[in-house]
Amino acid sequence: MATRVLLKVSGEALKGKASFGQDLNTLEYISKEIESLKKNGTQICLVVGGGNFLRGKQFNEEKLIKRSTADYMGMLATVMNALALQDALTSLRLKVKIFSAIPMHTVCEPFSHGKALSALENEKIVIFAGGIGNPFVTTDTVSVIKSIEMECDMLLKGTQVDGVYSADPKKNKSAKIYKKIGYDEVISKKLGIMDLPAIYIAKEHNLPIVVFNLHKKGNLMKVSTNGITKIENFSLIS
Ligand code: UDP
Repeated sequence: MATRVLLKVSGEALKGKASFGQDLNTLEYISKEIESLKKNGTQICLVVGGGNFLRGKQFNEEKLIKRSTADYMGMLATVMNALALQDALTSLRLKVKIFSAIPMHTVCEPFSHGKALSALENEKIVIFAGGIGNPFVTTDTVSVIKSIEMECDMLLKGTQVDGVYSADPKKNKSAKIYKKIGYDEVISKKLGIMDLPAIYIAKEHNLPIVVFNLHKKGNLMKVSTNGITKIENFSLIS
């Protein structure tokens, strides 16, 4: 049976060096990484974040905009990213289907469990946009829920760093990477690699999470080809 994975791409990852929005070179790079994995026969689900445009929690800080409104705006941002990724992937002749948790018939299909499964079986890359369609969570939690619902072998969390560290490696040079770490340790050490609800749900369903650097060429293919050992640095949360 083909390996089925869910790749979480944060909105942050799509903005490249820009301060906001989408960077076309980065979109192209990520799409080519996904293409290599697809050509390898892997079934691919994608959850894309929206932080390159807006995160509800931050946008609500001044309280002018209600938290739930800000969160819905964040969900709409994920749809913009999904649309951009769809075109970038389609330009590589890959078949893509977006399902949105917020119905938006003009640009994509509303989410349907059965249709998403059959799209995967028909070799389409499936993008889950609009989060879970409810406020007060982030796309980390969505990526865990969708990995479990779509019966993925693992969740691949592509980040800008090599894995889960004991401290922020960009600020603290002595931060150590965890090659393997348990859900409970991530929670008790407050490592902040993912939101707590995401870790709790993953734990309850024994979903392995691989945290790796998506910005190193070839990494995506290597982490998900049986061998999560093929790259030097990554973290496995299990
Ligand atoms: N969001 C939400 N419900 C969901 C998914 C996302 O309310 O099911 C909102 C939330 O405000 C979040 C924003 O959409 O901050 C963008 O998603 P996220 O912060 O996960 O993006 P990323 O950090 O991955 O780019």
